[in-house]
Amino acid sequence: MSVTERREAVDEDVLRRFTVEHQAVRGRFVRLGSAWLALREHADYPAPVRRLLGEATAAVALLASTIKFEGELTLQMQGTGAVRLLVAQCTHDLKLRAVARFDERRVAEGFEALVGDGQLAVTLEAEGGARYQGIVPLGGGSLAAALERYFEGSEQLPTAIALAADDSQAAGMLVQRMPQSGGRAGADDSASLAAREAEASATLEATREALAGLAAGELLARPADELLQRACAGHDLRLQPVQSVAFRCRCSAERVSGMLRALGEAELDGIIAEQGAVTVTCEFCHRPWRFEAREVAGLFGGADRPVGGSGALN
Ligand SMILES: [Zn+2]
Repeated sequence: MSVTERREAVDEDVLRRFTVEHQAVRGRFVRLGSAWLALREHADYPAPVRRLLGEATAAVALLASTIKFEGELTLQMQGTGAVRLLVAQCTHDLKLRAVARFDERRVAEGFEALVGDGQLAVTLEAEGGARYQGIVPLGGGSLAAALERYFEGSEQLPTAIALAADDSQAAGMLVQRMPQSGGRAGADDSASLAAREAEASATLEATREALAGLAAGELLARPADELLQRACAGHDLRLQPVQSVAFRCRCSAERVSGMLRALGEAELDGIIAEQGAVTVTCEFCHRPWRFEAREVAGLFGGADRPVGGSGALN
């Protein structure tokens, strides 16, 4: 890769939704530029971890764009490889954040080396509190392959996915069968239904092959229109308005307070005795949240008692 090579910034930080005309097949294309840079601005990831994180970030935006409620989608990989934990999250309005925990000494090229044996969990959380989670084993050689299995198994939606990331961009495309609207009964509908099913399956298989033939560099650099045409060659596509995608962490004093309460007063008093205050650094955006002794006491409803007055300190 040459550093002098200038790449034109095309279709960055946007997500495109499309459907194949007259077929129950839908697609998404996303490419992240400055959102990808902002997301890992304070983190120093080795190149292979960075690429996996970029792919996961593009993937979570694609997945979140398929949810129909207001809420958040979380993609979590946990395994025995160099990357012990990777979490990528995206809201229904396409606000992203992601983080990876890894063992520096074990980092190597390749999906298998990075994740080892483990699980990929996709969790949907609606703002009202409803929660749904699907889990598939990692493996299959790529994150895209694991996600295709997730859609096939958990959602019964045959899906083709391509993902790519480098230092400056992350991109992905997802093409899948649309969920069945169901319930259109009628004896002579079944033949035309079967014909439409077969047609959609053929389209999806052709798309899968086309995506497999796309080089990572093409997914990252070619204009979105061209990539959509190549993925769904021979079909007319209906494009929906482009949506912007951005990095935004949702850490807050309230969330950190909740975490501190869960740690317990004795534990926090111990930290205050040593350090004078409790500082929690957000893993996603590296923002330090500092709680003075008085504020920590306030978390447990004892703002008036003397600082460090817990029995645990003696
Ligand atoms: Zn944060």
